[in-house]
Amino acid sequence: MKKTIIIKYGELSTKKDNINYFLKILKENIDSLLTWTHFINYDRGRMFVDVDETDIDKTINVLKKTFGIHEIIVGYIDNELNFDKICENTINLIAEESFETFKVICKRSNKNYPLNSMEVSAKIGGYILKNRDNIKVDVNNPQLKVHIEIRNDAVLYYLNGFPGLGGYPVGTLGKGLLMLSGGIDSPVAGYLTIKRGVKISAIYFESPPHTSDFAKEKVKKLANVLASYNPNMNLYVINFTKIQEAILKNIPYEYLITIMRRMMYRISLKIAKKGNFKILINGESIGQVASQTLTSMSVINNVVDIPVIRPVACFDKLEIIDIAKKIDTYSISTLPYEDCCTVFVPEHPVINPELEKCILYEKLIPYEDLINEAIKNCEVIKVGKEEKFQDIL
Ligand code: ATP
Ligand code: MG
Repeated sequence: MKKTIIIKYGELSTKKDNINYFLKILKENIDSLLTWTHFINYDRGRMFVDVDETDIDKTINVLKKTFGIHEIIVGYIDNELNFDKICENTINLIAEESFETFKVICKRSNKNYPLNSMEVSAKIGGYILKNRDNIKVDVNNPQLKVHIEIRNDAVLYYLNGFPGLGGYPVGTLGKGLLMLSGGIDSPVAGYLTIKRGVKISAIYFESPPHTSDFAKEKVKKLANVLASYNPNMNLYVINFTKIQEAILKNIPYEYLITIMRRMMYRISLKIAKKGNFKILINGESIGQVASQTLTSMSVINNVVDIPVIRPVACFDKLEIIDIAKKIDTYSISTLPYEDCCTVFVPEHPVINPELEKCILYEKLIPYEDLINEAIKNCEVIKVGKEEKFQDIL
């Protein structure tokens, strides 16, 4: 028997005709993450990752953060299909295990095998009972589950596995641009979108000197956490100061936030189009603040012509916080640095803004020029790596 890491696909296995497309990208994603020697081999049922014994733990840690995987198992594979050999291997598999109750679970993709899966389970169960003392079978709640999978060319043996993250392999569904603030909601929105197979990059609006470098560092840290699920992402940092100051100076107070957000959406859209990002993603949640009433969302959304995905739109704040804690962004998001929205919030923002008024007010500022300038000066940070580069746009 040879030790191997076995990957189960979960939801991916429901993809019929294009499963190979998803599996090819899953393999490429894993290849790019494992910097040590490894060999990956797969079919429509399982993926196998072979690494040196000493690299198994770190490989498992990488796989636990890779979307598209339902379960990760350290098991064994043997090319010998002979039944006596299966019995012998099973006894070796459980040699070190202490248990009182067990169950054998057989899966047989090799339809020509002379025994069906029920028969294999029963026979192997009987063989284990003969070879070990003081144990019994419990089919409902066994302490040990012994898995045997009879394939055309080999038999797999394994006990328990680790749960994977599920979802689709990153990149299978194209690219999206996440509006990433230093708050709690947008990193969670990013995580949930990555989970659906969308490769993301992020855009952050800063307003120095009204916002500090610490606020930017905080966003970089959040982007770094997201990059552990979504490698090689860009963080586009837009200097929003001139636009915000122009808004503050010229626009009626209660429309500040609405117009500021329309400007953010316009800039995000332009960056998205240049970078071939098909959607915008943000952390808006219905009713959370004045800019997130349905009327506000519709007036703000009006400036873009690509889909805006709001993964946490229907979540309670507490539900969002639960996910933020699970993915380790909560402790970063709650660091006390203001971002540009919080700095400029008026006391009584309009709850039901009117589109006509927005259009009228926006005529008071040369926003096209300001937007083009902000995009020209965009800083692009390669997240996860330290180098920075300017000329991507
Ligand atoms: P909180 O978790 O405190 O609600 P938030 O980031 O969600 O923080 P909101 O004012 O609710 O803050 O903003 C709604 C959404 O708009 C954010 O989730 C984010 O997607 C986007 N956004 C807000 N401010 C910025 C910013 N400075 N840069 C990029 N995106 C931003
Ligand atoms: Mg929010």
